[in-house]
Parts: sequence; C-alpha cells; structure tokens
Amino acid sequence: MENQSEKKCNGYEAMFTFLSEEDFKEHLKVCEDCAKEHARMEKVSALIQEAKPYIKEKKKNFRVLVTAAAFFVAVFATLSVPLCMVGVDMYDNMVAQNTPSVEELGLPVDEYGLLYIE
Ligand SMILES: [Zn+2]
Repeated sequence: MENQSEKKCNGYEAMFTFLSEEDFKEHLKVCEDCAKEHARMEKVSALIQEAKPYIKEKKKNFRVLVTAAAFFVAVFATLSVPLCMVGVDMYDNMVAQNTPSVEELGLPVDEYGLLYIE
C-alpha cells in the first residue's frame, strides 16, 4: 500500500480531511506548509480553549443579570399597585373634586351646568 503521507500535498484542509490521523501526522513531518498551518490551527484552538471558561463566565453573569432584572420588575410591579392607587386618589382629588366647575368660575352655563356659548 502506498504511504499516504508521501503523496503530493493537496493543501492543509484537504490533507486534514482526507487522511487518517496517523497519515496526517506523518504528512506534517514531511510537508512544511501543512506543519505551519497545523501549528497555526493549534494556536487558534488553544485560544478557543482559553476563551471557553471566559465565555461561560459571561453567560453566568448574564443569567444573574436577568434574574436580578426579573426580581426588580417583580418588586416594582408589587410596589406600583399601591402607587397607582395613590395616583388615582390624587387624580380624584385634583381633577374630579377640587377642580371648580364651569359655574363656579362665573362663566355662563346652560341648564345642565355646561358652558353656555351664545
Ligand atoms: Zn501538506
């Protein structure tokens, strides 16, 4: 059987894809281009491995943030119910009760107490 590693190089990706792991390692020994490319790939994969825990940590922080946000929304929703009732109360006092009627303002009104315009 022909030794695959001594075959003409078809480029790093092709060799990586089509050779068995053993043949590929053999090829790296005889092919400078692929050896260089492989070293580069190893660096990239090492970087990814290094970055993994950082990415996980970020995800965890994000989850904490979402939980905190949900908590504050829940608290705010609970607090805002009485807050809304105070608001309604203020609205009643200011608008419905304390606002002078048209008649009290001394303007001409019709028999229904509405502003009368000639
Ligand atoms: Zn090669």
